[in-house]
Amino acid sequence: MPHAYRTSMRNTDIVIIGAGPIGIELAVALKHAGMDYLHLEAGQVGSTMQWWAPGTKYFSSPERIAIASVPLIVEDEEKANREHYLNYLRTVAGTFKLDIETYTRVMSIDKVDNGFTLHTARSFHGVGGIEELRFDPSTLDELEPIHAKRIVLAIGDMHLPRMLGIPGEDLPHVSHYLGDVHQYANQPVTIVGGKNSAVEAAIRLFRAGAQVTIVHRGEWFDKDRIKYWLYPEIEYLIKKDKVRYIPRANVTRISPTHATIDTGESIESRFMLLLTGYVQKPDLFQQLGVELIGDDRKPKHNLKTMETNVPGIYVAGTGSAGTQSRTKVFIETSHIHVDRILASLQGRVSDAVAEDYTLEES
Ligand SMILES: Cc1cc2nc3c(=O)[nH]c(=O)nc-3n(C[C@H](O)[C@H](O)[C@H](O)COP(=O)(O)OP(=O)(O)OC[C@H]3O[C@@H](n4cnc5c(N)ncnc54)[C@H](O)[C@@H]3O)c2cc1C
Repeated sequence: MPHAYRTSMRNTDIVIIGAGPIGIELAVALKHAGMDYLHLEAGQVGSTMQWWAPGTKYFSSPERIAIASVPLIVEDEEKANREHYLNYLRTVAGTFKLDIETYTRVMSIDKVDNGFTLHTARSFHGVGGIEELRFDPSTLDELEPIHAKRIVLAIGDMHLPRMLGIPGEDLPHVSHYLGDVHQYANQPVTIVGGKNSAVEAAIRLFRAGAQVTIVHRGEWFDKDRIKYWLYPEIEYLIKKDKVRYIPRANVTRISPTHATIDTGESIESRFMLLLTGYVQKPDLFQQLGVELIGDDRKPKHNLKTMETNVPGIYVAGTGSAGTQSRTKVFIETSHIHVDRILASLQGRVSDAVAEDYTLEES
């Protein structure tokens, strides 16, 4: 980023970084409480959902992912999909007249006397999705820095794909993002992965007319990690040889026409989908001195307040969980973060209790 020297500085008590569902839910709470805050988002509101494949469905019932007491109503009382939820997030932001500074990316944060200085830039996309792979900070224009006493990082946890690190991973027909299934009609497609995203992609591609092969390093799918309505479908498709399934195998190299697996077999592949998960970018936590703990590199925080080991720095939503190897923190389990953070910012301790969410992080 070009570093023009700036003399002016905006001042605020609180900055929320990220306008996914939990950042938005927190903004509504701070606005109702009359608190002084700014809300910055690198892309459009809900930018994480923006890069999901069109039509992707939530596993949660609508009422569990609704925020700020605004009903999420879906036709036929079905589960919501990406499009429903993006419309809904825009509606919530508009209803409460939230002042969200979209396309404003927090590039770095310094600890200073009496708080923090945030360096921001005008950006073109959220942190995550295919564009993030090509992200070049030098192309962005610096904006006025902001001084804040407290910061909430509601930044999500799916910033970059988990790379396989194999030759050919960067070829144009290889992607870590499903995208629009229409493009795969009548094409041989190899999918790498064994969790929900790989299974969902395989079913959708089969129905769109692709010839699908799944390469999975495991023996079989973990039923508990797949949307319950998808499991019998994939079981059926594999049993009937409508989808080819290769267990206990790893792709070792990709050529423009084939994927080679460690048994030596070469599989014809017009497209390759490497659906092996996503990782969190920890740079803001590291700059601030937030301790990252465990294999998931979860930012250390107090569960009652969501404040990290750095006083004045809070985490909310999936951003509080690091790179989740087994998802425990998602929208459903994160609503309670809003009560905890609001109370702490007001000098109280939240008495909110997690409802029936036994999966809450421990
Ligand atoms: C396919 C799929 C299905 C899912 N289904 C469900 C479900 O049914 N139920 C459920 O509860 N959860 C579900 N989840 C999980 C959950 O929906 C998402 O992870 C959700 O987006 C998390 O919300 P969040 O507000 O914590 O973070 P996000 O929505 O990821 O928002 C984080 C925001 O922060 C912004 N940001 C990050 N860094 C910066 C920066 N430096 N400067 C400015 N902005 C920044 C990003 O651009 C992003 O918009 C699903 C996830 C996936 C992938």
